[in-house]
Formats: sequence, structure tokens, C-alpha cells
Amino acid sequence: MQDHVLVVGAGLAGATAARILAESNLRVIVVERRKHVGGNCYDYTDENGITVHLYGPHIFHTNSREVWSFVNRFCEFRYYQHRVLSFVEGRLVPFPINRDTICEVFGVNIGVEEVEDFLKDEVRRSNFNDPPKNFRDVVVSQVGERLYELFFKNYTIKQWNRDPEELSPDVAKRIPVRYGRDDRYFSDRYQGIPARGYTHLVERILDHPKISIVTNMDYFELRDHVKPKLTVYTGELDRFFDCVYGKLEYRSLRLVFKTYDVEYYQPVAVVNYPNDYDWTRITEFKHMTGERSSRTTVLFEYPSAEGEPFYVVLTRDNIERREKYMEEVKKLEKSGEYIFVGRLAEYLYYNMDQVIEASIRKVSEWLKNRTG
Ligand code: FAD
Ligand code: UDP
Repeated sequence: MQDHVLVVGAGLAGATAARILAESNLRVIVVERRKHVGGNCYDYTDENGITVHLYGPHIFHTNSREVWSFVNRFCEFRYYQHRVLSFVEGRLVPFPINRDTICEVFGVNIGVEEVEDFLKDEVRRSNFNDPPKNFRDVVVSQVGERLYELFFKNYTIKQWNRDPEELSPDVAKRIPVRYGRDDRYFSDRYQGIPARGYTHLVERILDHPKISIVTNMDYFELRDHVKPKLTVYTGELDRFFDCVYGKLEYRSLRLVFKTYDVEYYQPVAVVNYPNDYDWTRITEFKHMTGERSSRTTVLFEYPSAEGEPFYVVLTRDNIERREKYMEEVKKLEKSGEYIFVGRLAEYLYYNMDQVIEASIRKVSEWLKNRTG
């Protein structure tokens, strides 16, 4: 084991690290506590022949050519531009908010060149902290209180079980506001879905003679018995340190799959439900994968405090606690024996491409320092 690198977790962070280390001629053992690789982007084909994402819908999007080139080494991507509709006041309207959303919601007919002034007017009539201090401030400072209440307030309370004023501005910065008619969810340069699925992508990344994989194995059952050259840790940050600074909060989802005997259930892959029902969104996977079938499988997401750790919860308490843990991480990383990377291990609200980018960067730095 002394000559080996141990990678904890076979999600994108762990798989990327394992691959780069293996290509640098190191022997890598990946341990994964689940029975499968892929982490939270794991997908599989259900009994109706439809590819579904077990832990919620995943769309790959990035502005990084490096990340895009990396993933394209291992699989082809299906052209797909993600579109989302929001169910408000009984009808489906484009989301993120753009010119068409405004026209439909307010029953006005304005040109794209008038949208900025329209929103400025909404903002002028609203109350918020300037500069913005929290989630609510960021949204209201861009679109005003009326649109905030319709599209953001209740969705955010449902998703996080928090007052939006308790959440970091960074959460709101994930959602753009568009003055034009672009109705895509993401505007990144590269977007798509792995043609043969995310599990296949991760399996291909891990497919290297120097990489061995052990599933159904929790790192904490073996950490006292092994002494690897390097440990790349991608699990929960607080758990690594036995929660000495207190527990970090993770938000989960209860995921309910349903199959219907219709070709399509809804007009786009994702419909958000800010104000109605207890779910936040419904995903119909066929729109993403392009699969054809007389039946369709959809996924209802019900946010939950219990369950798998899917989301970091960016409140002040959690962010402060994270800082304490990250001081410990810095010390361990300085020793050259550990790398902490990924959504859980860095306690950051990372997208897939950001995880891959961080993993490439951290492992490359480690390799550089090693060779001096
Ligand atoms: P994970 O995928 O969580 O992998 C960590 C792995 O480590 C897990 O498999 C876990 O079982 C394992 N592990 C943890 N602790 C241990 C241990 N002690 N021993 C052994 N194994 C352990 N990103 C996008 O870019 N686009 C999207 O559309 C998108 N949609 C999302 C939708 C949902 C509902 C969720 C929850 C996330 C979404 N993401 C999306 C984010 C994306 O899932 C993550 O950025 C990415 O998968 C994180 O990869 P990771 O390797 O850091 O973590
Ligand atoms: N959000 C919202 N209304 C929406 C969609 C998103 O208020 O219709 C807020 C909500 O707080 C959510 C955050 O924006 O948690 C980030 O949304 P995103 O779609 O990026 O969430 P994810 O895909 O990570 O679940």
C-alpha cells in the first residue's frame, strides 16, 4: 500500500484524480462505499429502456475547454441545450426569467430593448440590502420583489427549508437573468449529455491498468489499517475530522420515479414548481437523452433533511464551520499526503465541470511538487 495512492469515492472528483495519477504511472486503488461508481451523476437504464439519473437530473455544461477536452477523451456527447419551464399561476413560463417570461407573467408586450428598464423599474419599487447580503437581496436587486415572490421565494424555502435571507448570495448567482429571448438554462459554451450515460463516462475514466476499484467499502473502515503514499479524499468534509468543529449540514432529496403510458409527460426536460405541490421539480429524461419509447419515466424531487448528502447548505454557520475544517485541510495537504477535492470534501456548491477542474488542478499541483 505504501506505493499506492488511495482515492476515496468514485464520483467525478475521485475518478478524475485516479486517472491523472494512473497516467503518471502511479498505482491507484479507488474505494467507494456505494455499490456503483459514478457518484451523484450515476445513471442506468430502467425497465422501460429509458436512461434515468438515480440521484437527480444532470446536464453537463462548462466554459472550460480543458474540462470539455478531458471528458471528450472518454465518451461522445449528445448535443443538448437544457430548457426549463416554471409552473406559476397555473401556466408554464420560461425560466430563468427572460423577456418572454415577463411578457407572459405581466401580460405586457415589450421589446427586448425595453426589458432592462422594465426590470429597473421593478427593482426601484422594491426593498433590499444594497450591496446584496443574501440570496433574497441578489434576486430582488436584479428583478424586483414581484418576480422574486413568484419564482424564487417559495422554491428556495422548499429546497432549503430556510428563509432565503439566511442563504449566501452565491446560491442566487447560479441563476441568470436575461434581457433577451434566450431561454436556455445554461449559457456555457459547451453543453451536452454523455451519449452512453454518465456511468459509462466514469467507468471509462477509471478504465486504466493501474487503477483498481473496490465498491461497497467505506474508507473509515480501513483508514487505520493502511498507509498510502497519497490519499485523495472526496467524501464529507466534517466526517473526515470526526465532526470536531460540529456537523456540517447537507440537504437531501426524496426521489420518486414514475412511469406513464404516454409518449411525453411534459414539453421540456425539467419543469420547476416554485409555489405549488411539495416537489420542487419534475424531470422527464427522454428530452435529454433523445430516447424514443411509447412510455416515459419522470422524476419528482422532494427536498429533505434526511438521506444522501446531495447539497451543501450555504448559511453563515455552515460557511464559518467550513473555514475551520479547511484550515485543517490546508495542513494535511501541505504534508503532501492528502488531497481534498469535490463537492463534499471541499463543501462547495460545485457543478460537475468545476469538480473535474478542481481535481485536475489539485492533482497536477501535487504531481508537480512531487517531482520538484
Ligand atoms: P460525488 O458525486 O458525491 O461523489 C463522491 C463519492 O464518494 C460518492 O460516490 C460517495 O459514495 C463516495 N464516498 C463518500 N464518502 C466515502 C467513504 N467514506 N468511503 C468510500 N466512499 C465514499 N452538476 C452539473 O454540472 N449539472 C447538473 O445538472 C447537476 N445536477 C445536479 C442535480 C442534483 C440533484 C445533484 C444532487 C447534483 C447535481 N449536480 C449537477 C452536481 C454534481 O452531482 C456534482 O458536482 C458532482 O457529481 C460531484 O462529484 P464529486 O465526485 O465531488 O461527489
Ligand atoms: N431557484 C429558485 N427557483 C427556481 C430555480 C432555482 O428559487 O425555479 C433557486 C433555489 O434556491 C435553488 C437555486 O436557485 O436551490 C439554485 O438552482 P439550481 O437550478 O441551480 O439548483 P440545482 O440544480 O443545483 O438543484
